[in-house]
Amino acid sequence: MTAQIIDGKAFAASLGERIAGHAAAFAARTGRAPGLAVVLVGTDPASQVYVRSKGRMARQLGMESFEHVLSEDCTQQELMSLIGDLNADDTVDGILVQLPLPGHLDSLAVIKAIDPDKDVDGLHPVNAGYLASGMPGLVSCTPLGCLMLLRSSLGNLSGLDAVVVGRSILVGKPMAQLLLAENCTVTMAHSRTRDLPAKLAQADIVVAAVGAAEMIQGDWIKPGATVIDVGTSRVTRDGKARLVGDVHFETAARRARAITPVPGGVGPMTIMTLMHNTLIAAYRRVGLPAPDLK
Ligand code: NAP
Repeated sequence: MTAQIIDGKAFAASLGERIAGHAAAFAARTGRAPGLAVVLVGTDPASQVYVRSKGRMARQLGMESFEHVLSEDCTQQELMSLIGDLNADDTVDGILVQLPLPGHLDSLAVIKAIDPDKDVDGLHPVNAGYLASGMPGLVSCTPLGCLMLLRSSLGNLSGLDAVVVGRSILVGKPMAQLLLAENCTVTMAHSRTRDLPAKLAQADIVVAAVGAAEMIQGDWIKPGATVIDVGTSRVTRDGKARLVGDVHFETAARRARAITPVPGGVGPMTIMTLMHNTLIAAYRRVGLPAPDLK
């Protein structure tokens, strides 16, 4: 079997077109575009690239982008005060604080300070609680993107056996909740899981979010499974730097029915689901019914 490649880049582009349409409709209705504020602390080059690309994408889709850069040595109080200002600003619908923050800052306190209605990263405990309770909230971007790709590839997920490898607050835990809400039977694997290959042998759906280069071997995958590879690791092969996932792509693609590549799978979806969440937050904040783009 040769797996169908799940093209995250193409899916993200078509989702972007729909988001842009709804952003324009929002602006026509309210007299302002949905607004996304991104906060960067320090000068980490990778974070600078992420922040710039989020701002650019927001503008491309007809949203307002507000970028705030604080110095590496800013105090917790300065950062909290900025979050307070953004919470109070009616033109801001979404607030994203680029993580990780410098070590002297308390990330959890910052996340908790964000108005849950503007928490477009879906990390606030209120939004995590809504997700676990099956109530509408804002869902963490990467797992939301994975769910969209799974639905586009499989249609109805009900009754399927899913294994999520990794249990972070950012990816693994919300992913498992989303799959449970789709009526999958979900197993969460982590670093203490015994015999991961035996767990994966039962999985119709595998979502790998570990950050360990190609640790999941192709022959661990159940024939006909759908594989979503969230992991990204930089490796050097034959003298060349490459980005690889948690799954050994070549061997897994021989057994899976469908698989995401790295790069070009989950990555492009993460930025687009951030735009999706900003749009949803904007509609909800003004009391308009939010479009269902899932
Ligand atoms: P994380 O917070 O470091 O969590 C990693 C998880 O993997 C932990 O739950 C850990 O288990 C588990 N784990 C570690 N070794 C394992 C093993 N041998 N077997 C099974 N599970 C194991 O990482 P994260 O933030 O969730 O990110 C995971 C990966 O996804 C990273 O490569 C990251 O760069 C990538 N990522 C990509 C995107 C994207 O848009 N493409 C977005 C977010 C993240 P314990 O809990 O037991 O320690």
